[in-house]
Amino acid sequence: MRVGTFAVAAAGALLLTTVRGASGAAAEGAGASNALARELLAQLVAINTTDTPRGNVTTAAEAMAQRLRTAGFAADDIQVLGPSERKKNLVVRLRGTGRHEPLLLIGHLDVVEARREDWSTDPFALVEKEGQLYGRGTLDMKGPDAIMLAALIRLKQEQFTPARDIILALTADEEGGGANGVQWLLQHHRELVAAQFVLSGDDYSVLTENGRPLFFKLVASEKVYADFQLLVTNKGGHSSVPVSENAIYTLTRGLDRLAAYQFPFELNAVTREYYRRLAQIESGQRAADMRAILRDPPEEQALARLSQDPPTARSRTPPVSRRASTPDMPTTRCHSGRSRWSIAASCPDTRRRRCGSAWCRCWQIPASRSAISRAMARCVIRHPRTAVLCRRRSPRR
Ligand SMILES: [Zn+2]
Repeated sequence: MRVGTFAVAAAGALLLTTVRGASGAAAEGAGASNALARELLAQLVAINTTDTPRGNVTTAAEAMAQRLRTAGFAADDIQVLGPSERKKNLVVRLRGTGRHEPLLLIGHLDVVEARREDWSTDPFALVEKEGQLYGRGTLDMKGPDAIMLAALIRLKQEQFTPARDIILALTADEEGGGANGVQWLLQHHRELVAAQFVLSGDDYSVLTENGRPLFFKLVASEKVYADFQLLVTNKGGHSSVPVSENAIYTLTRGLDRLAAYQFPFELNAVTREYYRRLAQIESGQRAADMRAILRDPPEEQALARLSQDPPTARSRTPPVSRRASTPDMPTTRCHSGRSRWSIAASCPDTRRRRCGSAWCRCWQIPASRSAISRAMARCVIRHPRTAVLCRRRSPRR
């Protein structure tokens, strides 16, 4: 099956259809709006919004604010504001009749770091190759940002007055947490984003085949993950008398065990339905495999095949991390399928800390004292003198 992985036109048209209802005029304007979306996307990709010294989200927010002013939005309806000079959010409002409470469209302007040497094209230039668009953030999520901006600009220029205000917030931070983005807006300018409901395009939602929309994904929940930093200690010694029990070797054995660990297969109501419905539009072996894992017990070979090529990997394959070094520890997915809160809740109170958006942080918990250390011990290391230090590291997606 030939499946398109990105479709500005399809998703843009979908948004407009959602907001306005299909009409001849909408179809006529779609071409210009899609061209604008493409132009905005190229402009956004060219602005480095990574959370690095070279990145600056405010530059992107200001650039889009200028686009909105040029398109006719009143200065009072465009806000660029945030906790620091480099971390400003863009909030714009298309005024409606006020018959209903506002609708909030939300996206984020920041992107994950991209090194030129890891990319086949310049990550900060929009490149089209064989019908695919390349550039950092094209999918996550400057593409959807550009679509929402172009749709809003089109509505403005066509002097459309919705029954409710339509607010678009493009936030300064999401990849590293929402402290400078959504959380900051809620804490400091809630009135700007208060809405009856919210739509986020931060997912690859429209799957197309030869330009024809096949399905629209709705996100019920996000898979969460946890990073751990492991610290191994032992009694040590002098380098002139090497010992066989070395903390580094203990750690490497633990990492080998972690690499070999297979998490048990689990489905919940949402993922079960997801595979059931996906099997209806897939074909051949792949469709059969999706049905096979829904049986009780699931078929092992089908599971292995799907794990090699999961549906999400087909649609989004950003280079997450191609290099690793200590103390840059591997991302683990202990407790997959369970809430991080179930881990946090089992930490002894005296060792629980709030960290950013309330992640659990534990220090020097002896093995067997908590669910975290039990999980780590099971996954990684069993050693009486091992101290496990676990803390959240900055997320990478
Ligand atoms: Zn995102």
